[in-house]
Amino acid sequence: MSAIILKNAEEIELMRESALIVSKTLGMLASEIKPGISTLDLDAKAESFIRDHGAEPGFLGLYDFPNTLCMSPNAQVVHGIPNSEPLQDGDIISIDCGALKNGFYGDHAYTFAVGEIEPATEKLLRITKESLYVGINAFRAGNRIGDMGFAIQQYCEKEGYGVVRELVGHGLGTTMHEGPEVPNYGRRGRGKKFVDGMVLAIEPMINGGTHRIKQLKDGWTILTADGKPSAHFEHNVALVDGKPELLSTFHYIYEALGIQSDEEISFRKQPLTA
Ligand code: MG
Ligand code: MG
Repeated sequence: MSAIILKNAEEIELMRESALIVSKTLGMLASEIKPGISTLDLDAKAESFIRDHGAEPGFLGLYDFPNTLCMSPNAQVVHGIPNSEPLQDGDIISIDCGALKNGFYGDHAYTFAVGEIEPATEKLLRITKESLYVGINAFRAGNRIGDMGFAIQQYCEKEGYGVVRELVGHGLGTTMHEGPEVPNYGRRGRGKKFVDGMVLAIEPMINGGTHRIKQLKDGWTILTADGKPSAHFEHNVALVDGKPELLSTFHYIYEALGIQSDEEISFRKQPLTA
């Protein structure tokens, strides 16, 4: 992974723009996800939507990835490839989306329920999303990478969940993956110090059972070793004046799904504009 590249205020505004295109794409998808639709159908809608908003799909062709979205249902953790199989009632689908505009990437993810899901799976989604905000809350001047990883790991492991080790969050900017690596596990007081101008993609990947994973022969798809479901939530966050500031938002998803949430309020300095 490359060096850590700090961003100035102007660059952070451009990154907010890229992040919000992804946020709106995920919001658009939220109202399309239902039993019967395929991940390939959703992928095509996302590609058009991103291009209509003056951006390029961030993942398409990146490291030769074949599609716009990483689509990882059920026991798939991340990097699943869209296909023509219809989603079914009771599935979960992790959607990771990237967009490139003005030379900067946005990159975030949400795990959606398809129809009605089991209470145990619903809890996995809730805890994983909460752990993302636990991580964001640790992104403060004075803390280190290990403090964030420790916080996320503790939050998830106390529920008996597995924290994926092999895949981590990352710095984000004019390349999709910059330094530092941002593990979802760690030891307090270890690793690089957080400093103003860092922009991170913070992204817990949490398994319902073991933390161990395997990879399909397609060279991409990562899935849980025990076949239990896995959840993935990701935000893009800048460190400004020593505090975390969200560049991405789940607001458009919640608007589409009729969900009320104040989870982002303390991490947002300025209100969202349409
Ligand atoms: Mg991502
Ligand atoms: Mg990422």
